[in-house]
Amino acid sequence: MAEFGLPGALQPGLALRGGVAGKGRGPAVPSGPAHQARLRWGRTARALGGALRFWPLLAVFLAASVEAQVQSTRIWPARDYTRLTLESKDKLEYAIFSVKDPERLVIDLETSELSPALAELNAKVAAEDPYVQGLRVARNRPGVIRIVLDLKSEVRPQIFSLPPIADYGHRLVLDIHPLVAVDPLAALIAEQEKRPVTQKPSMRLATIVIDAGHGGEDPGAIGRRGSREKDVTLSIAKRLKKLIDEEPNMRALLTRDGDYFLALGARVEKARAVKADLFVSIHADAFIRPNVRGSSVFALSEKRATSEAARWLANKENEADLIGGVSFDGKDKYLAQTLLDLSQTATIDHSLRLGNSVLQRLGGVNTLHKASVEQASFAVLKAPDVPSILVETAFISNPEEERRLNDQGYQDKLARAVLEGIREYVAKHPPRPLGPMTGSPLPIALRN
Ligand SMILES: [Zn+2]
Repeated sequence: MAEFGLPGALQPGLALRGGVAGKGRGPAVPSGPAHQARLRWGRTARALGGALRFWPLLAVFLAASVEAQVQSTRIWPARDYTRLTLESKDKLEYAIFSVKDPERLVIDLETSELSPALAELNAKVAAEDPYVQGLRVARNRPGVIRIVLDLKSEVRPQIFSLPPIADYGHRLVLDIHPLVAVDPLAALIAEQEKRPVTQKPSMRLATIVIDAGHGGEDPGAIGRRGSREKDVTLSIAKRLKKLIDEEPNMRALLTRDGDYFLALGARVEKARAVKADLFVSIHADAFIRPNVRGSSVFALSEKRATSEAARWLANKENEADLIGGVSFDGKDKYLAQTLLDLSQTATIDHSLRLGNSVLQRLGGVNTLHKASVEQASFAVLKAPDVPSILVETAFISNPEEERRLNDQGYQDKLARAVLEGIREYVAKHPPRPLGPMTGSPLPIALRN
């Protein structure tokens, strides 16, 4: 592994040279002994596709190659984490470190050009961004452009490079996580408290986790008129949540409530964290031939996919992690282990029951692409103890269905059909009567 720094550039205590964008601010990196003590150098890494570490204070030096130019920049602010993406034709070499008092992250990019995409980056910081206060981009020294992010609090940064995939070139991704991860259970309880108590105290509400497919860097399928699957799924998921929350015996939690990327494993973990009774992932299908249409419902298969098409679709949906950009830091191990759980067979049996109910109802509002629930190895359906289905609401690649997917009335119809399927399932398999949050170690799947 070649060790390569930015020559003479990242010595501790080095003050910024050159102007830093943003008027009225002091130097981005203070010099002096206090500052020097805070910088910790030495860890060298090669940008392995997706390798990452959490380093509270970190310095990464990467093997230099062709000097890259940043062609596009994006910021995805969200409560879970804020992501900054820098895209380039060639791989970007960088160094990153954090500075305290006030909290800042500094990224030095090995590029001599302050491209328009970089120049406009500071305007992309949203006021409501939970973690980023603002940022400045400026030429730091010959061959180096420096980005300074002013933070609202101390954070846990994750930085990694992604190789080209789909429509994307090379991407350098900085994920800014809170020090303490956002707890989905706390969010659920907080929402619960806002609701009038209509259920009997002994009755446990069925917790339905609704997962809006794709998001952020991962647009999902794109229709001929440019509709993005990630927007359609979020809109339908929100409608479904509202409908479920109106039911006296159910409550819903969204895996994401905004336009940001969430790894497939993180979606599963959210469902498990709130001891979900059911997990419903909402999608919109796409195919090369525009005349293909209809709704379909999928469950997990432990072994073989029930059809070639189901296998193809599962592979396509599982690619979300590659497109959206996730670094594999051992979370997959967890998923592989949980798959060995003995409850999986019972869970899949219940996923099929739920899937059948939902599919029947969808048949009332759209043509069915397949008359029965199909099965394949969808990563997002792998919670071992939560019956889970993936609903392909319609084909966004079919011009007629694309139009309907964007129609609010039709989105409501789809959401209502899914609700009715869930309602039918919950009526047959109600959650065990326990206190609302005490939960049961046994999922409802194992009680019949
Ligand atoms: Zn999808």
